[in-house]
Amino acid sequence: MAEKAINPIFLSRPNLDEVDIQAVVSVLKSGNLVQGKEVANLEEKINSLTGSAFSSAVSNGTASLHLALVALEIGPGDEVIIPAFSYIATANVVELVGATPVFVDIELGTFNINVSQIEEKITSKTKCIMPVHEFGLCANMEEIIRLATSHGLYVIEDAACAIGARIGDQYAGTFGDFGSFSLHPRKSVTSGEGGVVTTKTKELDEKIKTLRNHGIRPGSFPMDFVEAGFNYRLTDFQAALVSSQMRRLPSIFRHKEALVDLYLKSLRTDILLLPSVPDGFTHSWQTFHVVCKDHETRERLIGWLKEHQIFCNYGAQCIPAMSFYLKKYQFDVKQQFPSAYEAYSCGLALPLSETLTSEEVSYVCEIINQFK
Ligand SMILES: *Cc1c(COP(=O)(O)O)cnc(C)c1O
Repeated sequence: MAEKAINPIFLSRPNLDEVDIQAVVSVLKSGNLVQGKEVANLEEKINSLTGSAFSSAVSNGTASLHLALVALEIGPGDEVIIPAFSYIATANVVELVGATPVFVDIELGTFNINVSQIEEKITSKTKCIMPVHEFGLCANMEEIIRLATSHGLYVIEDAACAIGARIGDQYAGTFGDFGSFSLHPRKSVTSGEGGVVTTKTKELDEKIKTLRNHGIRPGSFPMDFVEAGFNYRLTDFQAALVSSQMRRLPSIFRHKEALVDLYLKSLRTDILLLPSVPDGFTHSWQTFHVVCKDHETRERLIGWLKEHQIFCNYGAQCIPAMSFYLKKYQFDVKQQFPSAYEAYSCGLALPLSETLTSEEVSYVCEIINQFK
């Protein structure tokens, strides 16, 4: 019965409905493609969802991290603490401003930075902790903010995957000096390419809005160029596309949560470590990520799933093991970052998206449970 025509099953697929498409078309017809009202409208929506005081929409999630670092004047000679397991962009932006990424191992299960190992990495050069809310689960922000406060460090949350994630009632992107979101098609809502920077103060917000727009102070007339800025603007049709999808966020989360519950109760645990969510944390389930008992099992399982037209992929990188970082810093990766290395070499992201059905998840579980 499982062979009914439900495959192929893909890791994820963006889901744009007719209303989303019309939102883009109407901006295209208006002629205001950039710097119209849709970007401000999206920023308002992000503020009202997250409770952030200020937001700036930008051209992608990497640009938003880059802007946050530049706004805090982090550069050569400075160190930024980041998790060893993330998407590579988390480390690349630190390199891009000329600072040094200092990697900390993660915890298996939550896949987030191991907060008990942060303090030993803090030096006189440390300027910032940049935790990642990996796969949509908030890092332990209470402990990170405590450490940052006691050592006088900035905090930038890489919340690329975590729009809508919470600890208690507080939303991802509102704990640190800056929050950074991505609107890439692999995230919960998408503009194709896009990102958002959230912050608490008018001063930092103005800095971001200045830097994203060639260094022009917002509202200045005649234009006042107060920074050597970037062009990191988002277009208005992209902003409208995201605002439209945000109507569906509550139902996207409800749907994904039901699929995750099904995965958690159906998947075998003899060869898989399943993800865990600490009490009081609300996961936004950008990715459902498991860890196989060893590398060889992971490789064979990917092949087995592919044979059944189920297409899965690795979830994130052990960044210190990637060529650029390995060459530059000569890490002993398995010894220094054992959990990040295990999550990378044995980890697997299983299909999860707004369009995936519970029948499809049951089928994926059935195939995995037949794996020998
Ligand atoms: C997706 C992602 C980014 C990069 O976002 P882009 O919009 O693709 O530039 C950065 N950090 C993490 C953790 C991500 O998952």
